[in-house]
Amino acid sequence: MTRTMDYARRIRLFREEVRKHRLDSFLVTNETNVSYLSGFWGSDAALLVTAGGKDFFLTDSRYIEEAAEVIKGFVLQVVEKSTYKTIQDLAKARRLKKTGFESMNLPYEVASKLKELLPDTRLVPIRGLVEGTRAVKEEAEIKLIKNSIRLTKEVLKAALGFVRCGVSEESLSKRIELEFVKKGAHPAFEPIVASGPDSSRPHAKAGGRKISKNSVVMIDIGCNLDGYNSDMTRMAFLGRVNDKFKKIYNIVRKARELALDMIRPGMRAAKVDTAARGYIEKEGFGAFFGHSLGHGVGMEVHEEPTISKNSEAVLRPGMVFTVEPAIYIPGFGGVRFEDMVLVTEKGCEVLTR
Ligand code: ZN
Ligand code: ZN
Repeated sequence: MTRTMDYARRIRLFREEVRKHRLDSFLVTNETNVSYLSGFWGSDAALLVTAGGKDFFLTDSRYIEEAAEVIKGFVLQVVEKSTYKTIQDLAKARRLKKTGFESMNLPYEVASKLKELLPDTRLVPIRGLVEGTRAVKEEAEIKLIKNSIRLTKEVLKAALGFVRCGVSEESLSKRIELEFVKKGAHPAFEPIVASGPDSSRPHAKAGGRKISKNSVVMIDIGCNLDGYNSDMTRMAFLGRVNDKFKKIYNIVRKARELALDMIRPGMRAAKVDTAARGYIEKEGFGAFFGHSLGHGVGMEVHEEPTISKNSEAVLRPGMVFTVEPAIYIPGFGGVRFEDMVLVTEKGCEVLTR
């Protein structure tokens, strides 16, 4: 696993966010965010980061040894009775008055109980604080993402070689999974293999349908390698493809080029979505492109920034996300291209090219 990251820098940046929100502390409970800030990859751990500069790593006896090896700069706090009690003790000892918590991650039950146990501490629900920092990748992360993409491209190439008439979607999907495992990664999600009319369902589950002649096959795959993900979609054509398919294929391709060409740091993510969507709409297929244009990829397959028409994200160098315009016509079939891009100082680098 990746333990070569500059965690001290991450904590420093995060602490600035905590201060900006006028909090004296922040409770991090999302497993991926805990890993991102501390380097610890196990489960059942939480962080209490304080504005003052003293940070605590909370875990129970099962993980102490591993945590002690990995975490640097945190005070290791072993949970004995319960996490609640440990947080309560810390809040008292540190005289915490205003603690932020991850509103998208802390169950209602837990938040209510904490509120009850910490009468002198105001608990402030906040979303996306660590996720916002995670959206801009560091050099080391970009390297790992590129490795993950390289592997996915290799497997995709192999998969395209397996595409032939009579092969079932499911067996192809399983074969792709196996290829990832053989190469030392694991699938980031169940590989999507959708042929013929199945291709109109954006997240089709590979089923028993056999690939038939004169049809299209949508392959959407990605892997997790050393903690970082990749995600890409390509289309395969078998035999002769009808004109309507060629038409939507060309429209999606053009929408893809439009989006890729315009990506620059400083622009709103929504603008990229609107441009690709606008073109598909202009060509009369707007009703057949229901999902957003893309999503960030990193430690999770779907993360910040969201590339949608309502996204408030502003593109910054170091962001990595997908561009996946599509047209899905129910009962007929669909076309999607999915690429991953890295926002650079001047524009973007298409990582999946
Ligand atoms: Zn995908
Ligand atoms: Zn995707």
